[in-house]
Amino acid sequence: MSAPLPEYFVGYAGLAHDSGPDHPESPARLSALLPVLESRVKRKKARFLEVLPEPDLAIFREGHDPKYIDFLESLAPNGPPVDLDGDTRVAYATVRALKEIAGALLNLSGTESGVSRRIFCAVRPPGHHAHFYGGMGFCAVNHLATLAVSRARANPAERILVLDFDVHHGNGTFDILTRLLPPDQFLFVSTHRYPFYPGTGSGRENREGPGGSGVLDLPLPAGTDDEDYRFVLEERILPRWDLFSPMTVLVSAGFDAHIADPLGEMALSEKTYRRIGEALGRRERGLTACFLEGGYSLPALAQSADAFLCGWDRE
Ligand SMILES: [Zn+2]
Repeated sequence: MSAPLPEYFVGYAGLAHDSGPDHPESPARLSALLPVLESRVKRKKARFLEVLPEPDLAIFREGHDPKYIDFLESLAPNGPPVDLDGDTRVAYATVRALKEIAGALLNLSGTESGVSRRIFCAVRPPGHHAHFYGGMGFCAVNHLATLAVSRARANPAERILVLDFDVHHGNGTFDILTRLLPPDQFLFVSTHRYPFYPGTGSGRENREGPGGSGVLDLPLPAGTDDEDYRFVLEERILPRWDLFSPMTVLVSAGFDAHIADPLGEMALSEKTYRRIGEALGRRERGLTACFLEGGYSLPALAQSADAFLCGWDRE
């Protein structure tokens, strides 16, 4: 049986989300990725998924405190932006972007268990620092964790792997998964620089439950390179992944551990992102959905995402 054509979702409304002046999380990040995705679609490597925006943010209530979602929905078209912390700004344009993403999440959450489907979601703002009670660290809501909770609740037998390879620890995803899901239903794996923002992910919360479920934080020192990462991937991540044997795989795809990234101070190249993509492509059994997180060098972001998608397609 041939694999289904990969899908790409582009959150175009995210182009109008403004993080603030001179902010590294800029609309140009999405613009830098677009030619990569368009070129692959043109060569029939994938197709674009188009969805209608949702009228409200209802699906995000699955992963967040409803009071926080009420606050986001209260942002008015002509209202001033609101700073959630020193570098996380939300406004009406953010809400419009999130409604578009909500349309994609509803589409994905309806994918039946075991039906093979792969999708890369080029969206902003990113999501993995957004925790149950609200946004932080450039992130307004947690798309990935919302989808995880939605799928887990719809099918209590679904085994969900979350892999987060952004240079920052996915503290928000960790918070939502451990707060809302039965501990044996998910495996959360994060590689990240440590100590580093947001200060979590030391490995102290690692836990192995039945069938390999649980938490696997893999803190890495600044300067981690491709060979270091290959060891972690092959010796620590893949054995646990195979033991857990997930049906749904959700990926926080942040490319800010690239050597050219201005924030990460790591030393990965496109090679590592290709390798992660290859590992993903060899293990698909159901829905695999990747969400763009960080990556602040525009050329490195485009090249890394391209390598990741090529590896995933095993080309
Ligand atoms: Zn990051």
